[in-house]
Amino acid sequence: MDYNISIIPGDGIGPEIIAETVKVLDKVGEKYKHSFNYTELLMGGVSIDATGVPLTDEALQTAKNSDSVLLGAIGGNVGQSNWYSLPPNLRPEAGLLAIRKGLNLFANIRPAILFNELKSACPLREDIIGDGFDFVVMRELTGGLYFGDRWTKEVDGLRTATDTLVYNEVEIARIAKQAFEIARKRRKKVCSVDKANVLDSSRLWRQVTKEIAKDYPDVELTDMLVDNCAMQIVKDPRQFDVILTENMFGDILSDEASMVTGSIGMLASASLGDSKLGLYEPSHGSAPDIAGQNKANPIATILSAAMMLRYSFDLDEEADRVEWAVREVLKKGYRTVDIMSPGNTLVGTDKMGDLIASEI
Ligand code: NAD
Repeated sequence: MDYNISIIPGDGIGPEIIAETVKVLDKVGEKYKHSFNYTELLMGGVSIDATGVPLTDEALQTAKNSDSVLLGAIGGNVGQSNWYSLPPNLRPEAGLLAIRKGLNLFANIRPAILFNELKSACPLREDIIGDGFDFVVMRELTGGLYFGDRWTKEVDGLRTATDTLVYNEVEIARIAKQAFEIARKRRKKVCSVDKANVLDSSRLWRQVTKEIAKDYPDVELTDMLVDNCAMQIVKDPRQFDVILTENMFGDILSDEASMVTGSIGMLASASLGDSKLGLYEPSHGSAPDIAGQNKANPIATILSAAMMLRYSFDLDEEADRVEWAVREVLKKGYRTVDIMSPGNTLVGTDKMGDLIASEI
């Protein structure tokens, strides 16, 4: 099959980690007889330098017309770069918001995978970790408290601030469907997280999620209150497969989930909408402190590409192979500096990419 992928290297370590990911994808293409066609787009600081804006309309249009978008990272050193003396809508991060909005991406998926070989980086106790864990947090991205009406005014002589949390049934149903679809490709369990003992929006969330579940009898649905979920992630992370939740709860839980995996250079992410077109990127930023030094860990981006193969292209076997290749390289003791520990072999960004590609 032929796939058209928009590639956005971006700023800082972005170009380095994307180059390694393309190496791995090309190997997948060769082995499984697919043709991945790449179109490179500018976004972030490099786009500002070249065009004056963080994302041009043409670049966004090209992204919309592709089968999927793979992003490195954008942004510079906030204290030092000239990009941050620009108005907020012209700064690098505005490109990211524009592409998420332009592609109508409403669901963010962040896997929390603890590789057996990296157990020492996990802050949890050995008996809790067991042989590692593998779950995803699926967060609604475009509704809820962050997008509701808000105001601050004086009420009865007191400064009073109000934020509103709104969800309608369509917004809940579309992300619930995505969660069940994703669960079907995993261990077939969705845990919907809310605060239904207090919030109306959570009660509707629970109701609609249950309605959607009827179309997925092969997937088990459970509900959990968000305060309990925050505890369960550190008490027994192995119980989870897909955690589905609204915007603010997801914001907090996905950071908690990434913390328990231990290393920022390993964390992939995907943002999806109604169609198969998704935006895949590592969870970390552009790491200007190590850019151009061959020190960046490309694994988060390579694992994001694996998610792209699975969720946008339905190439499950190929995705499994990429994840397997990462595990093999870790098993053989190769580490970039961020995950290095005594007794292992230190490698640079390019060597890590070569090693993973060669395992494909
Ligand atoms: P960061 O994630 O870039 O870096 C935090 C720390 O982690 C740094 O010490 C960095 O060296 C290290 N690190 C990050 N990724 C790594 C990797 N792959 N391998 C090894 N080490 C890695 O966060 P920050 O320093 O707060 O932000 C830097 C820039 O990135 C800012 O301009 C910020 O706005 C931007 N940013 C972009 C995105 C994105 O593109 N989606 C996300 C977050 C931050």
